[in-house]
Amino acid sequence: MASNNKSHVVGVDLGGTKILAGVFDADLSLIGKSKKSTKAKRGVEAVIDRIARCVLDAIDECDLKPEDVRGVGIGAPGATDPESGTVIFAPNLEWRDIPLKAALEKALKVPVFIENDCNIQALGVHEKELKGGPRHLVGIFLGTGIGAGVVVNGELYSGFNRTAGEIGHMVLDVNGPKCACGNKGCFEALASRTAIFKRVLGAVKDGQKTLLTEMLGPGLKDMRSGDLRKAIKKGDKFVQKVVEDAAAFTGIAVANVINFLNPEVVVLGGGVMQALEDQMLEIVVRNARQYAMSGVDKGIQILASTLGDDAGITGGAVLARRQTRQA
Ligand SMILES: [Zn+2]
Repeated sequence: MASNNKSHVVGVDLGGTKILAGVFDADLSLIGKSKKSTKAKRGVEAVIDRIARCVLDAIDECDLKPEDVRGVGIGAPGATDPESGTVIFAPNLEWRDIPLKAALEKALKVPVFIENDCNIQALGVHEKELKGGPRHLVGIFLGTGIGAGVVVNGELYSGFNRTAGEIGHMVLDVNGPKCACGNKGCFEALASRTAIFKRVLGAVKDGQKTLLTEMLGPGLKDMRSGDLRKAIKKGDKFVQKVVEDAAAFTGIAVANVINFLNPEVVVLGGGVMQALEDQMLEIVVRNARQYAMSGVDKGIQILASTLGDDAGITGGAVLARRQTRQA
């Protein structure tokens, strides 16, 4: 399945709850997309079938056929082996050693490439949003968990075991809250959506008054990041403090990244940042500058991605383009 003159590629964002597929043209413009719930509980084969159908729907939306597509790039939530095309471990999907590339190539008859979701998002931000400008970039994505993608000299840096970028488990407070990984005070246990919601729920249980209970009921059912923004805008000081603390820890993580890697740009993305940029970004930047070693952050840009929900599919498209160009 070598490269050819077909100009369209498809990017797929495989998440624990939803699958997004987007078709991109030769200029990397998004020309059509499709969305499905993941339904991970139905098992691996069912999910792979849903991914294939989501891709075919997106292609059909654009009045194209699979034969018109030169490659599909997928970001999976967990450890991946791009060379064998295997998802090694994806806790949200309860997947272990799943040969995703082979299964999808069989279903779609199109070359398929896989990568970790945060790596792919960093790639998308680098190539589409920043036009490939920065030589070195770190993208940090705050969502259900926290992850990062590292671009060095314009290429993804994946590390010895291809797990580079696990910034969510950088310990920021050794006495901090317990993390799903077993350690305490990981970045993810302090600033992810899960961590923020946990802190809000715990405080409400202990009698904390908040507008969120008026908005969502006492159990805070179906709370979303956007609800936190609405509560803050209505003057909820408690929610504001929780979000500001998460932003401060994010700033410290960014300072660590700047001290350690000295990238040209640090981009912040993910659902939490998208919903709470106005409440968080300034605090992130202030803390990053404060905790970075004096002078080392000079000229380094710290910004929020504008790709939002499309970061994953954009990165998938970039991956597919790059891989089929090399083939
Ligand atoms: Zn952890």
